[in-house]
Amino acid sequence: MTTRHRSRNPGSQTALRQSNQQRILTSLVSGGPSTQAEISRNTGLSNATVSNIVKALAERGIVTTAPTTSSGRRALSVSLSSANGAVAVGIDFGRRHVRVIIAGLDYQIIAAEAVELPLGHTASSALDAASLLLEKLLIDGAVSSTLVLGVGVGIPGPIDRRTETVIEGAILPEWVGITHSQIEARLNYPVYLDNDANLGALAEVTWGPHGGASHLVFVKIGTGIGAGLILNGVPFGGSIGVTGEIGHTPVHDHGLLCRCGNRGCLETVASTTVMLELLSRTSPSIVATRDIVREALAGDHATLRIIEDAGLAVGRSVASIVNLVNPGTVVIGGPLAGLGALLLEPIRRGLDVYAVPMLSDSTELVMSSLGEEAEALGAVSLVLRQAGMHLPVA
Ligand SMILES: [Zn+2]
Repeated sequence: MTTRHRSRNPGSQTALRQSNQQRILTSLVSGGPSTQAEISRNTGLSNATVSNIVKALAERGIVTTAPTTSSGRRALSVSLSSANGAVAVGIDFGRRHVRVIIAGLDYQIIAAEAVELPLGHTASSALDAASLLLEKLLIDGAVSSTLVLGVGVGIPGPIDRRTETVIEGAILPEWVGITHSQIEARLNYPVYLDNDANLGALAEVTWGPHGGASHLVFVKIGTGIGAGLILNGVPFGGSIGVTGEIGHTPVHDHGLLCRCGNRGCLETVASTTVMLELLSRTSPSIVATRDIVREALAGDHATLRIIEDAGLAVGRSVASIVNLVNPGTVVIGGPLAGLGALLLEPIRRGLDVYAVPMLSDSTELVMSSLGEEAEALGAVSLVLRQAGMHLPVA
């Protein structure tokens, strides 16, 4: 799951100063207006360091200061300036893309853009592309890099919270073994790392129509299949941070071999990779996920049959989650969301067959309305939550 780390890249005085500045900004975000002495206590920085950085931030209009008294002594109260507020960044890495979103502390989106990546790209080249895109968006949005509170990063694969490392099972094998500190060193901002399905769930309870839902499951169907769980209003990370691996729940005892080494997993029936493989036999024109959506909407029988089988299997696996945690809302996301009812209906039938009737009846099952931005939005939300910012009440 998520642990925040400070930049461990003390290479130069500039890097150190930037890191200290970010600590002060984060402290102001989470603690609200504070005196310099309070900031010093919260950040562990010396009074002189805090005083120097606050002075520089005030000159640039990033914070405002006002005289106050604390324990009978004269003090300086420091608060973030709303006009020049800090920002949170979300980055979503996929098999063929990287997406960057920048938002203010008020959850307003300042900039968002995605670029394509070549198939089989390395983690290092993806990080380079992300870094370039982020710097471009900061310039476009006229946002100083020193105002970046942190960068949320979504990876399509499990992350072991104990070591903050992308582990086996990732959709991008090139990312296996990559650590939090490597990502942070490359991006040069405080990084908050999580799995993409978990971030999709976070986005749904932040930006989706289910905003504020206490219990919600987000199921991402793509090259892999994973679920993100929000329980009691917070992301559920289990013991080591790896949860919601429903892509590897068995749905056929004698099914196909799965990339995890098991047999008959949900992914062997319902991942977009398998759908494309199956369809390549009957419909050579179907080579990408968007072709599946197009052919299904056009009524192609083979495509509809494959979606029917996939949906029923997903519904069966979702039923296990519903029986276990009674989430109330299940949101289906990923690149097939454009299928709408064509995918949702068989999932519903699978859910109804395999879940306790009272629980399936009371479960709302919907398509994500956040589209391809869900994971990157969730990554933004991760930073804002870690920084103590909660959604402003409308
Ligand atoms: Zn498997």
